[in-house]
Amino acid sequence: QDLSKNIPPERKPWLFLINPFSGPGKAHTIFKQDIVPILYEASIPYKALVTTHAGHASELVKTTNLSEWYGIVIVSGDGLIFETINGIMQRDDWASSLKTPIGCLPGGSGNALCCSINYAAGEPVDVNMVLHSAFVLVKHRVIPMDLVAVHLPHRTCFSFLSITWGIMADIDYETEKYRNLGETRFTVGAVVGILGQFEFICLFFIILYTQTDEFEVEEETYLGRKADFSPVPTPLLPPLAEPLPDSWVSVDGDFVLVMAAYQTHLGSDMLAAPDARLQDGLINLMMIRKGVSKANLFRLFLSFSQGNHVSSPHVEMVKVLAFRLEPHSTSGNIMVDGERFEPAPIQAQILPGLARVMAI
Ligand code: ADP
Ligand code: MG
Repeated sequence: QDLSKNIPPERKPWLFLINPFSGPGKAHTIFKQDIVPILYEASIPYKALVTTHAGHASELVKTTNLSEWYGIVIVSGDGLIFETINGIMQRDDWASSLKTPIGCLPGGSGNALCCSINYAAGEPVDVNMVLHSAFVLVKHRVIPMDLVAVHLPHRTCFSFLSITWGIMADIDYETEKYRNLGETRFTVGAVVGILGQFEFICLFFIILYTQTDEFEVEEETYLGRKADFSPVPTPLLPPLAEPLPDSWVSVDGDFVLVMAAYQTHLGSDMLAAPDARLQDGLINLMMIRKGVSKANLFRLFLSFSQGNHVSSPHVEMVKVLAFRLEPHSTSGNIMVDGERFEPAPIQAQILPGLARVMAI
């Protein structure tokens, strides 16, 4: 028997990107106190880099030789993951670069991807998050994760979590200043928002979406080498200014909330799309129309934590591959993965299994 074949391949180091200002500012301490001992136990070679400014992670992954690293692990919130993915997408060789596994550890105030990965792995999302996430990370497999191409009037970005408008986006944005509260800022924000401390606006939208049976997932388009050096294909989406095919469903009216989610969790107490999977190739589009009372809205937000809002008569939910949203108002916020964008027409399409994550 040739035993040389049993020698494991040389292990490349993991690159940890740590945001010292995320959430309650504990990411670096968490890394040193809780993660380093686990990495040592697991004999994982690594390099740790503390970001010095916003945009640092993006600059780094745009220029670094990614093949030097086994994977990149973000110790922050969802914001730094967004930066990292969008940095990689700006590379000419985005398609092969996206095969670099991305992992995450909860160091921010919004750690939705960590929660979703833990949930998929059957681990808790509410207690000892750091420990459970570190456990999942160390014993991980590399699995595909859907991304969503988001077309805004003057740019395209790539989202892994959610797009929200209306009250949920406003809460997310308005509570940024309470970042040092950590995760609770979303709960506090919900209460503050719904009790009317700040105004929330009803927006008139036309929402258009595709039926799920219209699009065959052609992984090759996204994962094949041929995709390198060419823009990310979005075959379902005509240019933003052009009309959509007649087969798209159109819904219009006044909504207090529109949410597109492709992960189970939007926060540790927000099980937004309970049956979402990391790679199901689907966007869960959720709408709440104007006219719902504040009491009902408050109850709805409370039921989010267990995912019970999906059976509420006030919530419309549909699984789509692509959608376009035309707001008839220029106030409020559009949040993509927790990052704010100006309210404007926007369209999005699922990119099945485009990214690689260190999960279950
Ligand atoms: P949180 O969940 O607390 O919002 P995020 O991971 O979302 O944490 O990070 C918030 C923002 O911090 C990101 O947009 C990122 O660009 C920015 N950032 C990263 N490193 C630094 C730094 N060293 N100083 C200031 N901001 C930073
Ligand atoms: Mg953030």
